[in-house]
Amino acid sequence: MITRLSQLFLRTLRDDPADAEVPSHKLLVRAGYVRRIAPGVYSWLPLGLRVLRQIERVVREEMDAIGAQEISLPALLPREPYEATNRWTEYGPGLFRLKDRKGADYLLGPTHEELFALTVKGEYNSYKDLPVTLYQIQTKYRDEERPRAGILRGREFVMKDSYSFDLDEDGLKKSYHDHREAYQRIFARLGIKYVIVAATSGAMGGSASEEFLAESPVGEDTYVRCIESGYAANVEAVRTTPPNAIPIEGQPEAVAHDTPNTPTIATLVEWANQNLGRTVTAADTLKNILVQLRHPDGATEILGIGIPGDREVDEKRLGASLEPAEFTMLTDEDFAKNPFLVKGYIGPKALLANKVRYLVDPRVVDGTSWITGADEPGKHYVDLVAGRDFTPDGTIEAAEVRDGDMSPDGRGPLVSARGIEIGHIFQLGYKYTDTFSVDVLGENGKPVRLIQGSYGVGVSRLVAVIAEQQHDEKGLRWPREVSPFDVYVVIANKDDSARAGAEQLAAQFDSHGLSVLLDDRKASPGVKFKDSELIGVPLIVVVGRGWADGKVEVRDRFTGDSTEVGGDQALEAVL
Ligand code: ATP
Ligand code: MG
Ligand code: MG
Ligand code: MG
Repeated sequence: MITRLSQLFLRTLRDDPADAEVPSHKLLVRAGYVRRIAPGVYSWLPLGLRVLRQIERVVREEMDAIGAQEISLPALLPREPYEATNRWTEYGPGLFRLKDRKGADYLLGPTHEELFALTVKGEYNSYKDLPVTLYQIQTKYRDEERPRAGILRGREFVMKDSYSFDLDEDGLKKSYHDHREAYQRIFARLGIKYVIVAATSGAMGGSASEEFLAESPVGEDTYVRCIESGYAANVEAVRTTPPNAIPIEGQPEAVAHDTPNTPTIATLVEWANQNLGRTVTAADTLKNILVQLRHPDGATEILGIGIPGDREVDEKRLGASLEPAEFTMLTDEDFAKNPFLVKGYIGPKALLANKVRYLVDPRVVDGTSWITGADEPGKHYVDLVAGRDFTPDGTIEAAEVRDGDMSPDGRGPLVSARGIEIGHIFQLGYKYTDTFSVDVLGENGKPVRLIQGSYGVGVSRLVAVIAEQQHDEKGLRWPREVSPFDVYVVIANKDDSARAGAEQLAAQFDSHGLSVLLDDRKASPGVKFKDSELIGVPLIVVVGRGWADGKVEVRDRFTGDSTEVGGDQALEAVL
């Protein structure tokens, strides 16, 4: 296809936009790719949209290649599914909530785990249907606290999100691995320099999760890497042993247990009685954490930390009767007697300070803000994960990890750098399939609960990330795979024969399947060259004075190299 600049809906700007700080933002606005509508909300103009579509194409090809199937869910969603998983509340101010004319609550989807779980439940009912992976490339909404850097952190943005459903954990691992490889192929094709980092500590608890971080000084994530061992982790996930850590002697060693993911009273009790080897009795609400401590002499002690909760909310959310109460409700005396117990909210600092050394999978108390590292219950809900937020051995919080600290594998020092999150893969487990009872009939006739994975790529963010990594002082530079056009043909001479020559070349390129941007404007060559550099198509063919001798100039936007070739060799030079 040939696109004529004289016709293209485009106006480039000479000056940087006043609100732009990072290069990609400045350049994407100046080169006429995007326009701001509101904080974190942008329009895509023709050039920007073409790049976005290119990235979507690459993502689609690689998702299709691993057998994922594309569907499309609405962005406008009813409250109920998110209420069921408590994310309606948990998401806090980040969720765009709205009401319809009848007063019913809706939200604009920030991510779609609930809906995909329900979609699969709605269609499939036999083990023969599994595994299945579904994806969409769709607009997401998050009321980010600090929308930033144009499309880098938008409040409306495009994400590819996929979700795998498997019959068992091995299946989930394979789906996860397939995605990991697909993401590696996607980012390689896009020419991005990135690292894969652990997003949760693999040590204990927490589901496996990795982030793909594009290397960039303007990134908001900090990761550490150990050159010696290849270990890499987001600082939010890394654990390290501070030089002043004192092993706590003579104190009980804690034992972790995996608990059922749906925190109904019934399953929790069943689990506790099976796994803790003791009958657990009398509790008030679900807001209990079970702690098992093994003393040095071998004796075990099982503790429940109970905090009075909101019975009505729990009942509504779980649809379960909380009668009779089944866990030990700890009294003030219990807290006073036992140094391992912390009353009130429980966060990493409190845990360490009070030497509560290990918690059973805290997801059993999911959804309530009192379990948070923050001092403001109800504000920042944090899913406390054993091994990430606290450890039994006195290791420290992530934020305190510094350059030069020993990597957890002990093989070398850690170096830190900044990155932009471009992808995130997650072995979710049963959180959502439990909530919605997503079961199929198993081979043996018994129901099997599906296990879910969740995988995201920041498609619109990638436009900015590529711009960020590839630009130079003159403007944007697009790798061929994502460039809005394959070739940029500049008519750099007023005479009619150069114009005719350029038209001819453009037609020839087009007939060979190349997309061509033809600068046929009545502007000076200087203006045209500047725009060609700003816009960033990787190959620029200049038809100018040399055309009289049958020559054109081919410029490589990346290297800056320019070569003169005969008009009849131009095609070969740009293919
Ligand atoms: P971040 O840490 O940057 O806030 P996230 O961890 O909240 O991202 P996920 O929920 O993991 O994001 O979503 C999957 C992907 O969507 C991210 O890896 C990122 O590339 C992209 N993404 C998330 N938030 C935004 C946003 N506000 N604007 C553009 N892309 C985003
Ligand atoms: Mg975020
Ligand atoms: Mg993140
Ligand atoms: Mg993430």
